[in-house]
Amino acid sequence: MSKCDMIITGGSFITMDPEFRILNEHFMVIDQGRIVDILPLDQLKQYKGKKNRDASGCLITPGFINAHSHMPMSYFRGLADDLPLYTWLKDYIWPLEAKMMTPEFVYDASLHSAAEMILNGITLTNDMYFQKERIADACIRAGLRVIVSEAIIAPKYSGDGHEFAEKVQEFESAYRDQPLVDCSIAPHAIYTCSGEVYSSCARLAADKGWLLHTHLSETQKELEDCLKINGKRPLEYLASLGVLEAKCLFAHGVWLSGKELELLEASHSALAICTDSNLKLASGIAPLGDMLKRHLSVAIGTDGVASNNNLDILEELSTTAKLHKAINSDPEFLPAREAFALLTIEGARALGKAQDLGSLQAGKCADLLIINLQNLQSQPLYHPYSQLVYALGAEQIRDVMIAGNFVLKDHKLTHLDEAELISTAQEYQSKILKELKP
Ligand SMILES: [Zn+2]
Repeated sequence: MSKCDMIITGGSFITMDPEFRILNEHFMVIDQGRIVDILPLDQLKQYKGKKNRDASGCLITPGFINAHSHMPMSYFRGLADDLPLYTWLKDYIWPLEAKMMTPEFVYDASLHSAAEMILNGITLTNDMYFQKERIADACIRAGLRVIVSEAIIAPKYSGDGHEFAEKVQEFESAYRDQPLVDCSIAPHAIYTCSGEVYSSCARLAADKGWLLHTHLSETQKELEDCLKINGKRPLEYLASLGVLEAKCLFAHGVWLSGKELELLEASHSALAICTDSNLKLASGIAPLGDMLKRHLSVAIGTDGVASNNNLDILEELSTTAKLHKAINSDPEFLPAREAFALLTIEGARALGKAQDLGSLQAGKCADLLIINLQNLQSQPLYHPYSQLVYALGAEQIRDVMIAGNFVLKDHKLTHLDEAELISTAQEYQSKILKELKP
């Protein structure tokens, strides 16, 4: 008999493995943060778990992967809605960021987002903001996996990028012993960074094997300005700077032409579509049908809560699937299993993490959800994928495990105190309102 840290029994394992197997009457063996095996129940005697977790009547799925977020924005939720992107940024977000963003603010706001993400089943988020160390520290405290980057804003920059490289390398070595934390390099957007910034970042990303995380083609204004200034569409412009030599994660990709999608097809880059944020800011709708027809790597991102306004990535997926069925006039477009893949294995692939994350398979990290089905909203259950994409609410997520540790157990955060997070958010609300007073 072999010893292990944890055995999960009961329930249906939605593996999202290459055969999309759903395993009933099985158990999962977890040791040192990884999945050792998923075996038929009649072999249970082979293992002895230090702990056991019963998942009878539940679905066990891979954790959800959020391909684009801004964690420290949580305290700006609902502050200035119903405005166009540029007014929202220029009149509210940028001035507040300039005044409010102390290290404590970034840490506290990130902690709030980390807790909200965990409650929504997110086990990895790809984040871009300022003061990345404080974001990383908050994620470590919450037990959340994160790829984090400092947003680079440098419209007049014309250097070789060595200072960006130094900063990312310093971060990498400072957090080397933190298995939950990874880094990327993040020029913010083409309207906030010079061409030299992009060329340097791409060279560094390709050399060092970092992901390049950036915003792309979010609004029609961005497209029109780029055509005016550079005589090219945004992705053609970035391709001419050598950006597609790196593995990139492009957030949004709303205003992409057929030619730009062709460029992506020939690259190893991926897209994070952010439907709720794009709908609310009326930025447009990403051409998901064309992206999937070309077999591009696509994942789902929440964006920040100041534009979303929540981190409910299941809702994001459900809206995305239904919206694109409607605009493609095709109810068969993006069937539930393919949609669910965007949150799990495709999310992992988009971020270059599919060897470790995104499916329940032996050898991968034990990042998973146990979803309770014993409630009215989940019954009866004919098709698990349909249930997950169209019926499930985040409140049915009973347990969240990241790297073999429960960060949510019986609907309760294990590392954080929810009541404390709420009262901290209210304190910051008062400070923000004071700042906004003329
Ligand atoms: Zn964003």
